Amino acid sequence: QAKRLGKNTYQIYQQAQTEQMLRDFELEQELRLALNTQQIQLHYQPQYHLTTRELCGLEALVRWQHPVRGMIRPDHFIPLAEETQMIIPLGWQVLDQACRQTAQWLEEGYQVPCVAVNISPLQLLQADFIEQLNLLVDSYGLHRQRLELEITENLLQQNPDFAFQQLKSLRLAGYRLALDDFGTGYSSLNRLKLMPLDRIKIDKSFIRDIGKNTKDDAIILSIINLGHSLGVEVLAEGVETAQQDRFLRHHGCDTMQGYLLGRPVAQPELQRRTG
Ligand code: C2E
Ligand code: MG
Ligand code: MG
Ligand code: MG
Repeated sequence: QAKRLGKNTYQIYQQAQTEQMLRDFELEQELRLALNTQQIQLHYQPQYHLTTRELCGLEALVRWQHPVRGMIRPDHFIPLAEETQMIIPLGWQVLDQACRQTAQWLEEGYQVPCVAVNISPLQLLQADFIEQLNLLVDSYGLHRQRLELEITENLLQQNPDFAFQQLKSLRLAGYRLALDDFGTGYSSLNRLKLMPLDRIKIDKSFIRDIGKNTKDDAIILSIINLGHSLGVEVLAEGVETAQQDRFLRHHGCDTMQGYLLGRPVAQPELQRRTG
Protein backbone atom coordinates (compact mmCIF):
# COMPACT_ATOMS: atom_id res chain seq x y z
CA GLN A 1 0.00 0.00 0.00
CA ALA A 2 2.73 2.40 0.99
CA LYS A 3 4.65 1.48 -2.14
CA ARG A 4 1.64 2.12 -4.34
CA LEU A 5 1.09 5.44 -2.68
CA GLY A 6 4.70 6.35 -3.24
CA LYS A 7 4.45 5.47 -6.87
CA ASN A 8 1.30 7.51 -7.30
CA THR A 9 2.86 10.49 -5.62
CA TYR A 10 5.83 10.19 -7.94
CA GLN A 11 3.59 9.97 -10.99
CA ILE A 12 1.63 12.98 -9.83
CA TYR A 13 4.88 14.84 -9.29
CA GLN A 14 6.13 13.85 -12.73
CA GLN A 15 2.86 14.86 -14.31
CA ALA A 16 2.98 18.23 -12.57
CA GLN A 17 6.52 18.74 -13.86
CA THR A 18 5.49 17.91 -17.41
CA GLU A 19 2.57 20.29 -17.16
CA GLN A 20 4.87 23.03 -15.89
CA MET A 21 7.21 22.42 -18.82
CA LEU A 22 4.33 22.58 -21.27
CA ARG A 23 3.09 25.80 -19.69
CA ASP A 24 6.56 27.32 -19.93
CA PHE A 25 6.81 26.21 -23.53
CA GLU A 26 3.43 27.72 -24.31
CA LEU A 27 4.39 30.93 -22.56
CA GLU A 28 7.64 31.01 -24.51
CA GLN A 29 5.80 30.67 -27.84
CA GLU A 30 3.35 33.34 -26.77
CA LEU A 31 6.08 35.70 -25.67
CA ARG A 32 7.76 35.30 -29.04
CA LEU A 33 4.49 36.28 -30.67
CA ALA A 34 3.95 39.11 -28.19
CA LEU A 35 7.20 40.75 -29.30
CA ASN A 36 5.87 41.00 -32.85
CA THR A 37 2.36 42.13 -32.06
CA GLN A 38 2.77 45.10 -29.73
CA GLN A 39 1.65 43.32 -26.60
CA ILE A 40 4.67 44.64 -24.72
CA GLN A 41 3.95 47.96 -23.04
CA LEU A 42 5.52 50.18 -20.44
CA HIS A 43 4.13 51.69 -17.30
CA TYR A 44 5.91 54.56 -15.57
CA GLN A 45 6.26 55.12 -11.85
CA PRO A 46 7.23 58.59 -10.58
CA GLN A 47 10.25 59.18 -8.37
CA TYR A 48 10.37 62.20 -6.06
CA HIS A 49 12.84 64.21 -4.02
CA LEU A 50 12.02 63.48 -0.39
CA THR A 51 12.36 67.05 0.82
CA THR A 52 11.23 69.23 -2.10
CA ARG A 53 8.66 66.67 -3.32
CA GLU A 54 9.70 67.50 -6.86
CA LEU A 55 9.53 64.84 -9.56
CA CYS A 56 13.08 63.64 -10.24
CA GLY A 57 12.42 60.72 -12.56
CA LEU A 58 10.20 57.96 -13.87
CA GLU A 59 10.90 54.25 -13.76
CA ALA A 60 9.76 52.31 -16.81
CA LEU A 61 8.25 48.94 -15.84
CA VAL A 62 7.40 46.42 -18.52
CA ARG A 63 3.88 44.96 -18.86
CA TRP A 64 2.69 42.19 -21.12
CA GLN A 65 -0.80 42.87 -22.37
CA HIS A 66 -1.85 39.32 -23.20
CA PRO A 67 -4.94 39.00 -25.44
CA VAL A 68 -6.46 36.23 -23.28
CA ARG A 69 -4.70 36.24 -19.93
CA GLY A 70 -4.82 40.00 -19.49
CA MET A 71 -1.96 42.00 -18.04
CA ILE A 72 1.00 39.88 -16.99
CA ARG A 73 3.50 41.33 -14.49
CA PRO A 74 7.21 41.11 -15.24
CA ASP A 75 7.96 38.70 -12.40
CA HIS A 76 5.95 36.12 -14.35
CA PHE A 77 7.82 36.36 -17.64
CA ILE A 78 11.22 38.06 -17.17
CA PRO A 79 12.79 34.89 -15.68
CA LEU A 80 11.54 32.87 -18.65
CA ALA A 81 12.70 35.54 -21.06
CA GLU A 82 16.14 35.36 -19.46
CA GLU A 83 16.30 31.56 -19.68
CA THR A 84 15.36 31.59 -23.35
CA GLN A 85 17.53 34.62 -24.30
CA MET A 86 14.38 36.37 -25.42
CA ILE A 87 15.30 39.05 -22.92
CA ILE A 88 17.64 40.46 -25.60
CA PRO A 89 14.94 41.45 -28.14
CA LEU A 90 12.51 42.18 -25.30
CA GLY A 91 15.04 44.44 -23.61
CA TRP A 92 15.58 46.37 -26.85
CA GLN A 93 11.87 46.83 -27.26
CA VAL A 94 11.67 48.22 -23.74
CA LEU A 95 14.57 50.60 -24.35
CA ASP A 96 13.13 51.69 -27.68
CA GLN A 97 9.70 52.44 -26.19
CA ALA A 98 11.18 54.25 -23.21
CA CYS A 99 13.35 56.46 -25.42
CA ARG A 100 10.58 57.16 -27.90
CA GLN A 101 8.13 58.09 -25.13
CA THR A 102 10.67 60.33 -23.39
CA ALA A 103 11.50 62.15 -26.62
CA GLN A 104 7.80 62.61 -27.29
CA TRP A 105 7.09 64.02 -23.82
CA LEU A 106 9.96 66.45 -24.15
CA GLU A 107 8.77 67.53 -27.58
CA GLU A 108 5.30 68.13 -26.17
CA GLY A 109 6.80 70.43 -23.56
CA TYR A 110 6.59 68.18 -20.51
CA GLN A 111 9.23 68.09 -17.81
CA VAL A 112 10.90 64.69 -17.72
CA PRO A 113 14.12 64.86 -15.71
CA CYS A 114 15.14 61.25 -16.28
CA VAL A 115 13.71 57.85 -17.25
CA ALA A 116 15.03 54.70 -15.59
CA VAL A 117 15.04 51.36 -17.40
CA ASN A 118 15.76 47.94 -15.85
CA ILE A 119 18.49 46.08 -17.71
CA SER A 120 19.13 42.34 -17.45
CA PRO A 121 22.70 41.18 -16.93
CA LEU A 122 22.48 39.13 -20.11
CA GLN A 123 21.61 42.22 -22.12
CA LEU A 124 24.23 44.48 -20.61
CA LEU A 125 26.93 41.86 -21.15
CA GLN A 126 26.33 41.71 -24.91
CA ALA A 127 29.51 42.93 -26.56
CA ASP A 128 27.69 45.46 -28.76
CA PHE A 129 25.28 46.71 -26.08
CA ILE A 130 26.78 50.18 -25.70
CA GLU A 131 27.21 50.76 -29.40
CA GLN A 132 23.57 49.78 -30.06
CA LEU A 133 22.34 51.84 -27.13
CA ASN A 134 24.16 54.93 -28.37
CA LEU A 135 22.62 54.48 -31.82
CA LEU A 136 19.16 54.14 -30.32
CA VAL A 137 19.39 57.09 -27.94
CA ASP A 138 20.96 59.32 -30.58
CA SER A 139 18.27 58.38 -33.09
CA TYR A 140 15.69 59.95 -30.77
CA GLY A 141 17.88 62.98 -30.17
CA LEU A 142 17.94 62.32 -26.45
CA HIS A 143 20.58 63.55 -24.06
CA ARG A 144 22.21 60.50 -22.49
CA GLN A 145 21.78 61.94 -18.99
CA ARG A 146 18.05 61.47 -19.46
CA LEU A 147 18.48 57.72 -19.33
CA GLU A 148 19.24 55.82 -16.15
CA LEU A 149 20.11 52.15 -16.40
CA GLU A 150 19.06 50.02 -13.42
CA ILE A 151 21.24 47.04 -12.77
CA THR A 152 21.44 44.54 -9.93
CA GLU A 153 24.36 43.11 -8.04
CA ASN A 154 24.05 39.73 -9.77
CA LEU A 155 25.41 41.43 -12.87
CA LEU A 156 28.83 40.91 -11.31
CA GLN A 157 28.49 37.18 -10.83
CA GLN A 158 29.51 35.64 -14.15
CA ASN A 159 32.20 37.86 -15.53
CA PRO A 160 32.87 40.71 -13.10
CA ASP A 161 35.78 42.16 -15.09
CA PHE A 162 33.75 42.60 -18.24
CA ALA A 163 30.74 43.80 -16.25
CA PHE A 164 32.85 46.53 -14.61
CA GLN A 165 34.26 47.51 -17.97
CA GLN A 166 30.75 47.84 -19.44
CA LEU A 167 29.60 49.93 -16.48
CA LYS A 168 32.58 52.27 -16.78
CA SER A 169 32.04 52.70 -20.51
CA LEU A 170 28.35 53.39 -20.03
CA ARG A 171 29.09 56.01 -17.41
CA LEU A 172 31.74 57.58 -19.63
CA ALA A 173 29.25 57.64 -22.48
CA GLY A 174 27.02 59.79 -20.25
CA TYR A 175 24.35 57.41 -18.99
CA ARG A 176 23.25 57.37 -15.37
CA LEU A 177 23.62 54.11 -13.45
CA ALA A 178 21.52 52.90 -10.52
CA LEU A 179 21.96 49.79 -8.41
CA ASP A 180 18.50 48.26 -7.94
CA ASP A 181 17.18 46.13 -5.06
CA PHE A 182 20.18 47.05 -2.96
CA GLY A 183 20.64 44.88 0.10
CA THR A 184 19.09 41.72 -1.30
CA GLY A 185 21.79 40.53 -3.65
CA TYR A 186 25.24 39.22 -3.48
CA SER A 187 26.94 42.23 -1.96
CA SER A 188 30.54 42.95 -1.39
CA LEU A 189 31.51 46.39 -0.22
CA ASN A 190 34.77 46.10 -2.11
CA ARG A 191 32.90 45.71 -5.35
CA LEU A 192 30.31 48.30 -4.47
CA LYS A 193 32.97 50.89 -3.92
CA LEU A 194 34.38 50.19 -7.40
CA MET A 195 31.07 50.52 -9.21
CA PRO A 196 30.57 53.81 -11.03
CA LEU A 197 27.09 54.53 -9.70
CA ASP A 198 24.87 57.58 -9.53
CA ARG A 199 22.33 56.08 -7.20
CA ILE A 200 21.48 53.08 -5.08
CA LYS A 201 17.90 51.95 -4.57
CA ILE A 202 17.11 50.44 -1.18
CA ASP A 203 15.04 47.31 -1.74
CA LYS A 204 11.40 47.57 -0.77
CA SER A 205 11.66 44.63 1.63
CA PHE A 206 13.61 46.90 4.03
CA ILE A 207 11.21 49.80 3.61
CA ARG A 208 8.20 47.59 4.36
CA ASP A 209 9.41 46.93 7.88
CA ILE A 210 10.22 50.50 8.88
CA GLY A 211 9.06 51.13 12.43
CA LYS A 212 8.43 47.44 13.07
CA ASN A 213 11.91 46.22 13.63
CA THR A 214 14.78 48.24 15.03
CA LYS A 215 17.29 46.07 13.17
CA ASP A 216 15.73 46.95 9.81
CA ASP A 217 15.67 50.60 10.79
CA ALA A 218 19.37 50.37 11.59
CA ILE A 219 20.10 48.70 8.25
CA ILE A 220 18.34 51.47 6.37
CA LEU A 221 20.33 54.12 8.22
CA SER A 222 23.56 52.34 7.34
CA ILE A 223 22.60 52.05 3.68
CA ILE A 224 21.82 55.77 3.53
CA ASN A 225 25.15 56.59 5.17
CA LEU A 226 27.02 54.10 3.03
CA GLY A 227 25.54 55.62 -0.12
CA HIS A 228 26.42 59.12 0.94
CA SER A 229 29.96 58.21 1.92
CA LEU A 230 30.41 56.70 -1.53
CA GLY A 231 29.07 59.93 -3.01
CA VAL A 232 25.93 58.43 -4.53
CA GLU A 233 22.30 59.36 -4.17
CA VAL A 234 20.00 57.05 -2.20
CA LEU A 235 16.45 56.20 -3.30
CA ALA A 236 13.94 54.22 -1.25
CA GLU A 237 11.61 52.01 -3.25
CA GLY A 238 8.21 50.69 -2.19
CA VAL A 239 7.27 53.61 0.07
CA GLU A 240 3.63 53.05 0.97
CA THR A 241 2.97 54.91 4.22
CA ALA A 242 3.38 58.40 5.62
CA GLN A 243 5.36 56.89 8.48
CA GLN A 244 7.93 55.40 6.10
CA ASP A 245 8.09 58.70 4.24
CA ARG A 246 8.76 60.63 7.50
CA PHE A 247 11.38 58.15 8.65
CA LEU A 248 13.28 58.35 5.36
CA ARG A 249 13.10 62.13 5.19
CA HIS A 250 14.22 62.42 8.78
CA HIS A 251 17.24 60.22 8.08
CA GLY A 252 18.41 62.05 5.00
CA CYS A 253 17.37 59.65 2.25
CA ASP A 254 17.37 61.63 -1.02
CA THR A 255 14.56 60.30 -3.18
CA MET A 256 11.72 57.82 -3.16
CA GLN A 257 9.17 55.97 -5.20
CA GLY A 258 6.17 53.96 -4.08
CA TYR A 259 2.42 53.64 -3.96
CA LEU A 260 2.19 56.49 -1.42
CA LEU A 261 3.03 59.02 -4.13
CA GLY A 262 2.26 57.13 -7.32
CA ARG A 263 1.71 53.70 -8.83
CA PRO A 264 3.13 52.69 -12.20
CA VAL A 265 0.73 53.90 -14.91
CA ALA A 266 0.72 54.07 -18.71
CA GLN A 267 0.39 57.87 -18.76
CA PRO A 268 1.92 59.53 -15.71
CA GLU A 269 0.91 63.07 -14.82
CA LEU A 270 3.62 65.44 -15.91
CA GLN A 271 4.09 69.17 -15.52
CA ARG A 272 4.56 71.39 -18.50
CA ARG A 273 7.74 73.41 -18.66
CA THR A 274 7.19 77.03 -17.79
CA GLY A 275 8.83 79.93 -19.57
P1 C2E B 1 12.03 46.64 -9.62
O1 C2E B 1 12.87 47.21 -10.70
O2 C2E B 1 12.63 46.60 -8.26
O3 C2E B 1 10.70 47.50 -9.66
C1 C2E B 1 9.96 47.84 -8.56
C2 C2E B 1 8.74 46.97 -8.41
O4 C2E B 1 8.06 47.37 -7.22
C3 C2E B 1 7.73 47.13 -9.53
O5 C2E B 1 7.08 45.87 -9.71
C4 C2E B 1 6.75 48.14 -8.95
O6 C2E B 1 5.47 48.07 -9.54
C5 C2E B 1 6.72 47.69 -7.51
N1 C2E B 1 6.34 48.77 -6.60
C6 C2E B 1 6.49 50.09 -6.76
N2 C2E B 1 6.05 50.78 -5.68
C7 C2E B 1 5.61 49.86 -4.79
C8 C2E B 1 5.03 49.96 -3.48
O7 C2E B 1 4.85 51.01 -2.90
N3 C2E B 1 4.73 48.78 -2.86
C9 C2E B 1 4.93 47.57 -3.45
N4 C2E B 1 4.60 46.48 -2.78
N5 C2E B 1 5.48 47.44 -4.71
C10 C2E B 1 5.80 48.58 -5.36
P2 C2E B 1 6.86 45.28 -11.16
O8 C2E B 1 6.46 46.38 -12.08
O9 C2E B 1 5.96 44.11 -11.01
O10 C2E B 1 8.29 44.81 -11.59
C11 C2E B 1 8.92 43.75 -10.91
C12 C2E B 1 10.35 43.59 -11.34
O11 C2E B 1 10.44 43.15 -12.70
C13 C2E B 1 11.16 44.88 -11.29
O12 C2E B 1 11.55 45.14 -9.98
C14 C2E B 1 12.31 44.55 -12.21
O13 C2E B 1 13.28 43.80 -11.52
C15 C2E B 1 11.64 43.65 -13.24
N6 C2E B 1 11.36 44.45 -14.46
C16 C2E B 1 10.37 45.31 -14.68
N7 C2E B 1 10.47 45.84 -15.93
C17 C2E B 1 11.57 45.30 -16.48
C18 C2E B 1 12.22 45.44 -17.75
O14 C2E B 1 11.83 46.22 -18.62
N8 C2E B 1 13.35 44.70 -17.96
C19 C2E B 1 13.83 43.86 -17.01
N9 C2E B 1 14.94 43.16 -17.30
N10 C2E B 1 13.26 43.70 -15.82
C20 C2E B 1 12.14 44.40 -15.54
MG1 MG C 1 13.97 48.75 -11.02
MG1 MG D 1 13.87 47.39 -7.07
MG1 MG E 1 13.03 43.79 -8.16
